[in-house]
Amino acid sequence: MIARVIVDVPSRQTDRPFDYEVPEELAGWVEPGSRVGVPFGGRVVQGFVIATAEQADVDRSKLKPIAELLDHMPPLSPDLIELGQWISEKYCCPMTVALQAMLPSALKGKAESYVAIAPDKAEAALFEADWMNYIRQQGGETKLASLQAKFPDAAREVKAAIAEGRLTERAAIRDRLSVRKVLTVFPPADREEAELALTAIPARAAKQREVLRYMIGQEDPIPLQALIETLSTTSSTVRALADKGLLVMQEVEQNRDPYAGRSFRRTEPLTLMEGQQKVYDQIADALDVAEPRVFLLHGVTGSGKTEVYLQAIEHCLDLGKQAIVLVPEISLTPQMVERFKGRFGHEVAVLHSRLSGGERYDEWRKIREKRARVAVGARSAIFAPFERLGLIIIDEEHESSYKQEESPKYHARDVAVRRAKQHGAAVVLGSATPSLESYTAAALTNASSDGRGAALLPMPERVGGKPMPPVTIVDMREELRGGNRAMFSRPLYEGLKLRLERGEQSVLLLNRRGYSTFVMCRACGYTAQCPHCDIALTYHQKSRVLRCHYCGHAEGSPTACPSCESEHIRFFGTGTQRVEEELSKLFPGIRVIRMDVDTTTEKGSHEKWLTMFGERKADVLLGTQMVAKGLDFPYVTLVGAIAADTSLHLPDFRAAEKTFQLLTQVAGRAGRHRLPGEVIIQTYNPEHYAITTAQHHDYDAFVKEELSHRRQMAYPPYCRLILITLSHEQLPQVINAGDKLAGLLRQSAEEAGAGGGGFNSRFIEVLGPVASSIPRIKDRYRFQCMVKYRGNVDAVGIVRVAVAAVARPQDKASVQISVDVDPQVIL
Ligand code: ADP
Ligand code: ZN
Ligand code: ZN
Repeated sequence: MIARVIVDVPSRQTDRPFDYEVPEELAGWVEPGSRVGVPFGGRVVQGFVIATAEQADVDRSKLKPIAELLDHMPPLSPDLIELGQWISEKYCCPMTVALQAMLPSALKGKAESYVAIAPDKAEAALFEADWMNYIRQQGGETKLASLQAKFPDAAREVKAAIAEGRLTERAAIRDRLSVRKVLTVFPPADREEAELALTAIPARAAKQREVLRYMIGQEDPIPLQALIETLSTTSSTVRALADKGLLVMQEVEQNRDPYAGRSFRRTEPLTLMEGQQKVYDQIADALDVAEPRVFLLHGVTGSGKTEVYLQAIEHCLDLGKQAIVLVPEISLTPQMVERFKGRFGHEVAVLHSRLSGGERYDEWRKIREKRARVAVGARSAIFAPFERLGLIIIDEEHESSYKQEESPKYHARDVAVRRAKQHGAAVVLGSATPSLESYTAAALTNASSDGRGAALLPMPERVGGKPMPPVTIVDMREELRGGNRAMFSRPLYEGLKLRLERGEQSVLLLNRRGYSTFVMCRACGYTAQCPHCDIALTYHQKSRVLRCHYCGHAEGSPTACPSCESEHIRFFGTGTQRVEEELSKLFPGIRVIRMDVDTTTEKGSHEKWLTMFGERKADVLLGTQMVAKGLDFPYVTLVGAIAADTSLHLPDFRAAEKTFQLLTQVAGRAGRHRLPGEVIIQTYNPEHYAITTAQHHDYDAFVKEELSHRRQMAYPPYCRLILITLSHEQLPQVINAGDKLAGLLRQSAEEAGAGGGGFNSRFIEVLGPVASSIPRIKDRYRFQCMVKYRGNVDAVGIVRVAVAAVARPQDKASVQISVDVDPQVIL
């Protein structure tokens, strides 16, 4: 048998299957999806079998055999391999990168060398040195790395031994992580016999007697460590009993359940409201016919989308299929998890990046081994290894975090649609503020009613007919004219004061992080810049350092201006820490929870803050974007956006859309329950349509206005984009490569015969090269080209060919080129 293997060497030259011989003893094990170790270029690398065959493409005698099989159960299935192929083509990345992205990082194996004493040379080795004895102690074989660490001076001798064949070298792939095993003590199998043995234990071994008596009374095995703690005994006492055969100790595989010990209250399905029922029926119908369908559930905040998801999942499970629910990373709160665990208990696997590598691996295995039928997770949960997928839900589908920013630069929404096609599954995209791409696709589908594309399912009302909260816009220029130079406008100040008096809670959103965004000299205008990136450094008050958010460069904050030596060097901008200070000044004793990247890096901290706020242990929840999503607290009656427009001025064609989404989301946090809510938005652009339409909760009006801008500028959804970024340490190199690339692209675009006019025609345009908006990161200059296209042109193919012609990946010093298809961020 021959195996076609994709080797884990991410480059363009090696991005094709290589044939290997499957050794006799592995023939029954190796199948498409298997992970193997194979010899490649003089070492052993990890690879994935994507197919097996009888005939090799090359001379069979030249084939090398597969060195080892890494898992007894293939981690990939044929449908995931096919999906990997699709991702690799659509997003212009090597296949191995696409395949690796589907697996938990614990399975990203790393090659390790082992050395063993050659069997027929064992005698001759008798007289050898310490390191040889060491290998013998290890059972005749040891890791080369540990030999090197233990006997640093023996390098030459070891090398010589390998060369002379006295030692054999073997390479193997080791996973970053293995299953966690715990030494566990089992109660005696025969209790009567154990009782007898108990009386025979001499009095001086009272401790042993105590342990045995305790274990006789136990039903279940106990981890050794727990036993030692409970009885304050020692492991040697327990071992002594095991040695006598009275107890059994064994390594037991343990699953790290991140939610272990937490109980979830079981919830019953609610009776759906009329609007929910209509939507549910359509989704249920699609599940029944098992044809791939895409729905866009456009439901205002508080319209009860989650209950629809839950009941749709239930229907899917009843049909014997499985479901995936994607939520943005920062919305994956315990509250959110609880809603799914509460309904489906331990059939829910949770996958997100705040889990440790081991925890993620265990949750993934739960799915693989069919112990879970629902996966809830962030972006990469779209690859959950289910075999009969019935339903994929993407909540907050407009979130840009569904797009991965490193290779493979896939969008989970597009991958979902593709996976659904493979499985005959339904996709439900849910949002109060659908992305313009999804919305126009759905609107077009409804209009043409040929059932292809996405169908629009509206839920325009809040559950129980609760009104949307009134939104007040405060013009901060007016505040300044009125003599208020503080960061809180008078209405927001009064609002906060009222909430404190009434014992209600407020949420404050700030669209930034850090104490202040930059450091500037008031005398000469100097700003502190990162020496490696063309971007201002951010001041972090707690650690008193200036930090670059792109490369991590950190330096102490200056006391005098490095340029003019003036002492008038100040920290500018409004960060969450400053707002927090200001709040304590204005309202002494106010209890504030601050949530931003600085306070939520620690594992579990995010959840800790939200639980505290939910228990009303704070008056104000202050934070960045993360306070805007999905939170549902009954005592929140005021929501304030402090600087609503900071995201309006980003050099990004989606700036207005993002601002509108953020404001609508955060406004949706108020008055979701019995108490009515109120929203205050502070802005310097009170007339901007993103702000005024958010004020009136008017998605349609926003879309209309925004679409006309996009059409004028020929931006998505009126075209599609491919962003190509070139970088190099030397500026002329980048410029040359950029010119060459753009030239090739223009030439192919012309040959493709797609030019000008009409919105439905074929069209492709190449922009650039221009310096990226951050022209230098990590000491590398950055230039970019943008390809805009529409209609039936193979723009990705054109880009792939052009990039291959310019890039010289085998040359480490050559220009680096990265391709981003359908980019979300164009900085
Ligand atoms: P969304 O996700 O659309 O913002 P949620 O799913 O959070 O809305 O629902 C808002 C509130 O309405 C929640 O407290 C939820 O429990 C409640 N709810 C949803 N559906 C129903 C229903 N059919 N009957 C009663 N309450 C409901
Ligand atoms: Zn200065
Ligand atoms: Zn930097």
